Amino acid sequence: MRIPLIAGNWKMNGSLALLEDFGNAFARTESLSKAIEIVIIPPFPYLANADEAFEGTLVQIGAQTLYSENSGAFTGEVSASMLKEFGVHFVLVGHSERRTLFSEDDAAVLARTRQALEAGITPVLCVGETLEERDAGRIDDIVLGQVAAVLDGLTEAERQKLVIAYEPVWAIGTGRTATPEQAQQVHAAIRARLRTYSESLADDMRLLYGGSMKPSNADELLAQPDIDGGLIGGASLKPEDFIAICHAAG
Ligand code: PEP
Repeated sequence: MRIPLIAGNWKMNGSLALLEDFGNAFARTESLSKAIEIVIIPPFPYLANADEAFEGTLVQIGAQTLYSENSGAFTGEVSASMLKEFGVHFVLVGHSERRTLFSEDDAAVLARTRQALEAGITPVLCVGETLEERDAGRIDDIVLGQVAAVLDGLTEAERQKLVIAYEPVWAIGTGRTATPEQAQQVHAAIRARLRTYSESLADDMRLLYGGSMKPSNADELLAQPDIDGGLIGGASLKPEDFIAICHAAG
């Protein structure tokens, strides 16, 4: 049984006022299924307030990134143990914006994943191909390569703690969503790759879809057999949209 997970990545957006709006909206929402996990991932400065804003609701807190060392002379960086102190339960690793804008390669993604696991935080490993890679027929090569680059560096017990988010780069923030069939096809390929490690890894790991998911397409995407939730960017900035997607998952 894979528990659906809906995570909202605010990226470099939001404010204390938005956090309060979300806290109030979730506090008013009584009908949400307790059989799903909900995560809000605000920018670092809001983590301290997020714990309080979502107290008594189903919402857990996530972080957008972390550094590959636990402490030291790394100006501007934040470590897993610091995130842990602020009640963070999930952290994104390998988001395409980190890979492209901040040059995080597979080795950096693996190092960050290890740090998260050591601190007891669930890494959400983001993978996905660009449009050029898709058009060149390299989806499996790229996506399964990004998956293997991290999973091969972990023990089986560590692998069991991961969540994977498939996010086709061409669908992120573009309004262009993968069709449910396109998304399902890649999710099934990831799950087949997981089966080469172990049956239980393939059966139990949650695979999220990310890329312009919104209330109008969430039902169809979440109905796919290998899609266990969503990583939501733009639509996670409006409480009513994000909560509608949570309802679609529950
Ligand atoms: C994301 O950045 O993880 C994402 C899925 O963004 P959007 O929903 O805006 O495409």
